[in-house]
Amino acid sequence: MSDLKSGKECPDCKAWKPAQDFRRSAGNPDGLSWYCRECFRRRDADSYRARRERAGFKVRPKIDVPDGHKRCPKCEEIKPHSEWHKSSRQWDGLAAACKACRKVESRAGHLKRKYGMTEADYRAMLAEQMGVCPICQSTRPEHVDHDHETGRVRAVLCFNCNAALGMFKDRPDALRRAATYVEGIVWKPTLVAPGVYRLPS
Ligand SMILES: [Zn+2]
Ligand SMILES: [Zn+2]
Ligand SMILES: [Zn+2]
Ligand SMILES: [Zn+2]
Repeated sequence: MSDLKSGKECPDCKAWKPAQDFRRSAGNPDGLSWYCRECFRRRDADSYRARRERAGFKVRPKIDVPDGHKRCPKCEEIKPHSEWHKSSRQWDGLAAACKACRKVESRAGHLKRKYGMTEADYRAMLAEQMGVCPICQSTRPEHVDHDHETGRVRAVLCFNCNAALGMFKDRPDALRRAATYVEGIVWKPTLVAPGVYRLPS
């Protein structure tokens, strides 16, 4: 339309906004909707709620989301935009759920894919271990340890104990010697024939 203005004040929110922030409306002299898009959306939602309520549906109390905030449908909290990941697939450019909820979701996906465990399995395993790492028995564990050959989940270990097992390449014989070593026993290989040593077991 040739007489489109560059913008105008919205009579509802009283903000001056550029023309693209209004809907097109051929019925109005300036070719733009009366209210801005944002106010239209809110008004549409309001009248939708009113219709639902009149029709006898239960309607959730309206929540006012302040500017720069968004309500997470998962945790139902209203959080600032910095608490959301960007997403080009969403109309508002932000992911559907907040960062915290996404983290929980991706953790659950990781547990499932890598260990075939649900979050409930994980919590049950932690409870079974009385909430501590079964090796050092002091730290709160967070690493699911599994047998790399069979894939069987063994326990939830703390970061250090899990790393230590990795250093010993999960070898029980070396780990046993390490234990007696720190108690003061240094194992020597036994000479069985010239040049042939039998390693202590
Ligand atoms: Zn407005
Ligand atoms: Zn959330
Ligand atoms: Zn530990
Ligand atoms: Zn060594």
